[in-house]
Amino acid sequence: MEELRATERTRIRRMPKRGSYDRALINSIIDQALFCHVGFVHEGTPFVIPTLHVRVGDRIYVHGSAASRMLRTAAGGVPMCVTVTHIDGIVLARSAFHHSVNYRSAVILGVAEEVVGDAEKNRVLEALVNHVVPGRWSEARPPHPKELAATSVLGLPITEASAKVRPGGPVDDEEDYALPVWAGNIPIRLTAGAPIPDERLGPGVAISPSVAGYRLPGERGDRNGTSG
Ligand SMILES: Cc1cc2nc3c(=O)[nH]c(=O)nc-3n(C[C@H](O)[C@H](O)[C@H](O)COP(=O)(O)OP(=O)(O)OC[C@H]3O[C@@H](n4cnc5c(N)ncnc54)[C@H](O)[C@@H]3O)c2cc1C
Repeated sequence: MEELRATERTRIRRMPKRGSYDRALINSIIDQALFCHVGFVHEGTPFVIPTLHVRVGDRIYVHGSAASRMLRTAAGGVPMCVTVTHIDGIVLARSAFHHSVNYRSAVILGVAEEVVGDAEKNRVLEALVNHVVPGRWSEARPPHPKELAATSVLGLPITEASAKVRPGGPVDDEEDYALPVWAGNIPIRLTAGAPIPDERLGPGVAISPSVAGYRLPGERGDRNGTSG
């Protein structure tokens, strides 16, 4: 299994036993998430913006309006930090101090490059749409050249990255285990509800195969993942 090299920037200092530089684990955390947060500094102010993403090979891609600050800033070779977070549970300990959460998260650092050329842009956008809803790209109208021109796509190599995973129950101080306080954990899972048809749907338009039985990335279990 390939290990990424821990750098001074990605070295996990607190609870390092929960940290990992395993590429397969980092990939699975990225793949099982619907969205990420992109951090960057613009004119001295830090911004952290939530956005959709997709991983293709050893790169994570984000997209958006060519006019957005996030895309304009990051395309200019500005250092970026992409964070992907799954919250898997609330951990209740006997003491307030030892309460925690179960999670899987990945942090990817680097300098993003803009994807140029319509063919490559289309390829990444297809992967992005199909990451969110598998098979949807071929059901929907493809982008017009004008729509493509209005869309920026950035790719960040997954070379300087870390993962952190907290599973399991609470860890209390030994003397607290005798306290009559309920302890354990509450699992948390993001799920999709039943699809709601658009009110302007034409008569006789059947539900698309991609929508019927839709499952979120973390519920698919079709990629090299851990749990959902
Ligand atoms: C949902 C959630 C809630 C959390 N709540 C708290 C909280 O309330 N208080 C708290 O102290 N911590 C919390 N954490 C953990 C937090 O993310 C950091 O790991 C921790 O605060 C700082 O760790 P550090 O000092 O080792 O890292 P830092 O010195 O801050 O970072 C050094 C490097 O370690 C890596 N790293 C740090 N954290 C993570 C991570 N979570 N995932 C992947 N790589 C990481 C990055 O590469 C980073 O550049 C939470 C995590 C999650 C996912």
